[in-house]
Amino acid sequence: MRLVLLGAPGAGKGTQAVILSEKLNIPHISTGDIFRNNIKNKTELGKKAEEYITKGLLVPDEITVDLMKDRLKEDDCKNGFILDGFPRNIAQAEALDNYLNEMGVKLDCALNIHVDDEEIIERISGRRVCQNCGKSYHVKYNPPAVNGECDDCKSKLIQRDDDKEETVMKRLETYHKQTEPLIEYYQKKGLLKTVIGQEKVEDTTREVMKALELE
Ligand code: AMP
Repeated sequence: MRLVLLGAPGAGKGTQAVILSEKLNIPHISTGDIFRNNIKNKTELGKKAEEYITKGLLVPDEITVDLMKDRLKEDDCKNGFILDGFPRNIAQAEALDNYLNEMGVKLDCALNIHVDDEEIIERISGRRVCQNCGKSYHVKYNPPAVNGECDDCKSKLIQRDDDKEETVMKRLETYHKQTEPLIEYYQKKGLLKTVIGQEKVEDTTREVMKALELE
């Protein structure tokens, strides 16, 4: 399956992508994770991306599209992929379409996870991530077994810099202006499915499975 996940930051794309990736045995590709790894490893790409990410802005398309094309060329994408956080504007969606056309393949679905802004702000402000493996938690809704420590690798949990309140508001604005138009873009292509991601993770997963006919 070739799948694009749409939705605001904090809607749960990453969480559902991990579940789907395991079930379908296809890679979960998150541009945000790729950028964060590059920032952590202090690469040239990381330095450039960080300037935009800390301001809640999109990393320029020239950087992002090439990065994605390289990733999609890898062997593990042959049987499908789950894109989480890409495309994030119309230009990126068109670049993805062109690339897939060249490869002679098509997207199966753009799955939109809808969550209201108010809920998004509450979720992101409580989100904590493992500084080592990137696993995501929420202080109230999905706390780790031991406070401040990753269940899996026991490393420290931190708040992402761009999850701090000022940046969250900017990221939401960026989402509404640049990413939300993709809903119509994929609707016109007949690829859009929408689920409500407002409640618990398991509820959203059930809706996702139903929408993708994976039950
Ligand atoms: P995310 O983890 O998906 O919320 O991404 C974190 C940040 O990385 C975003 O706020 C953007 O600054 C940047 N980013 C992630 N994906 C993209 C993309 N497709 N295009 C441009 N910037 C991106």
